[in-house]
Amino acid sequence: MRARTESLPPMPSAGEQSYQHVVRNRLIELSDVSKTYRRRYRRRIDALVELDLRIEAGSTVAVVGPNGAGKSTLFGVLAGLVRPDRGVTLVHGLAPIAHVRSRGVGLLPDRVRLPARLTVREVLARLAILDGYSGAAVPRSVDRVLDLVGLRERSGDRCGGLSHGLRQRVGIAQFLLRPREVLLLDEPLSGLDPVWRARFRELFEQLRRDSSGRTLLLSSHELGETARLTERVIVIDAGRVVDDFPTRGDSEEMERRVLSVLRRAGQA
Ligand code: ADP
Repeated sequence: MRARTESLPPMPSAGEQSYQHVVRNRLIELSDVSKTYRRRYRRRIDALVELDLRIEAGSTVAVVGPNGAGKSTLFGVLAGLVRPDRGVTLVHGLAPIAHVRSRGVGLLPDRVRLPARLTVREVLARLAILDGYSGAAVPRSVDRVLDLVGLRERSGDRCGGLSHGLRQRVGIAQFLLRPREVLLLDEPLSGLDPVWRARFRELFEQLRRDSSGRTLLLSSHELGETARLTERVIVIDAGRVVDDFPTRGDSEEMERRVLSVLRRAGQA
């Protein structure tokens, strides 16, 4: 593993130190991060390859790329769920696991897994308690998020019988219970019908407005939608960043650029 100091700026003078500390605390930084999955009798898969990234707190960033590009692995690393083989990852100045323990991270995984035998309300109530709610605040907070995702009527349904889109909405409700400073949304639009896509867009904008310091990372194949929601696009292919640019809300231009970069990368 590369020494931790190599990825950091030069040591500041005493006067600069507190300033540097503030700046570093408000960054997500990955330096030379690699992750290879090894399974017995199968080929090795390099999911992330020497990845270098800096993401400022308060930004909304799209992570796009083909299936298998490494987007979910990247989110897993930031959420402390995937341990890279090498490199340094710092989320607001802390290793991901330390950051999750101290501040928590909101993660909407690409496939929302829920305990089949519990009802939607039971799942959300358990999470609300883990999130620090108690007494009457538990049902109150659960009702609030059920209303936000339109699931109040379905709150007595067992999770095992929910469609992919409904599970996705329970997943969205989970991170709305107590939105964290860092939110990682892996394919949040998948399985949502057009009405709920539009509703998700509103919720996303609201999360952005409610706290200017909140960092939102969103992976999606919906390039147009992504361009409207985010201010920066990071294109990943085969575990590497192949492009990184500001969106400026122009979805057509963004789609053209992403497709041409990926076509070029595919031919290389
Ligand atoms: P994306 O989210 O862009 O589709 P992933 O990060 O899920 O990409 O996967 C990157 C590569 O790593 C893919 O080839 C995938 O098959 C492989 N991969 C992901 N998770 C695992 C795992 N737990 N075990 C083995 N291979 C994995």
